[in-house]
Amino acid sequence: MGFVLRAFSDGIDGVFIGGCHLNECNYVTHGNYHALTMVLLLKKIMEHIGLNPERLRIAFMSAADGNIFAESVDDFVKTVKEIGPLGKGTGEKFDDNELQSKLAEVTKLVPYIKLEKMEKLGTRLEKPAEYDTFFTTDEIEKLFTDVVSYYIDPEKCQACMTCARRCPVEAIISAKNQIHVIDQEKCIKCGTCVEACPPKFSAVTKISGEPVPPPLPEDKRTIVRKKSKEGKEDKEDKEG
Ligand code: SF4
Ligand code: SF4
Repeated sequence: MGFVLRAFSDGIDGVFIGGCHLNECNYVTHGNYHALTMVLLLKKIMEHIGLNPERLRIAFMSAADGNIFAESVDDFVKTVKEIGPLGKGTGEKFDDNELQSKLAEVTKLVPYIKLEKMEKLGTRLEKPAEYDTFFTTDEIEKLFTDVVSYYIDPEKCQACMTCARRCPVEAIISAKNQIHVIDQEKCIKCGTCVEACPPKFSAVTKISGEPVPPPLPEDKRTIVRKKSKEGKEDKEDKEG
């Protein structure tokens, strides 16, 4: 998904993906089925942001199908030429920077999109008649209107730093004995921090359809720990 979006971000007019025939993959994973659902999802997303979905195509062929490859590529190139230049073609009306910012927005959400659509992306679609309706327009709209956010509850956070170590984009502001805070601008909504936070703390919440509470001010993040009778450190209060 990220590769296709990067190609469009780099100004490529069309992306053609060639895969082995379905059910003829050498690997048990049957990755070509996955590529198919990924393309179907991306085409709907392209439609959602106003990019002509015909700019993306997947076709299946074997190494012996040179003629199918040549015909498929010829036909695809013809289609893309008919559509016109990226962002200015049939059904597209983008200002100069608008397309770039929309593509950047979708690219940032790729981990979230994959997570939300994981089950459907893993489906083996056997009948081409199912392709067009597998992902619906309403479903894609909902995907973008109900984008989730992640929030660390300052009352529950124990500053154990586990989530910060696991965050793939260093979006968690962390330090020893400092209540952790998610930088919403950097967060790619992968959900790793929810899994990483130990169940006994359960400090990370998934939020959907409502604004994220404002972050705790920096001067109020320090945790003061008191020693219990057994000599263990317990969270007592926040300074500030
Ligand atoms: S969801 Fe959590 S782990 Fe994933 S990017 Fe955001 S803060 Fe980092
Ligand atoms: S893993 Fe949970 S308790 Fe530990 S720092 Fe992150 S949010 Fe706080």
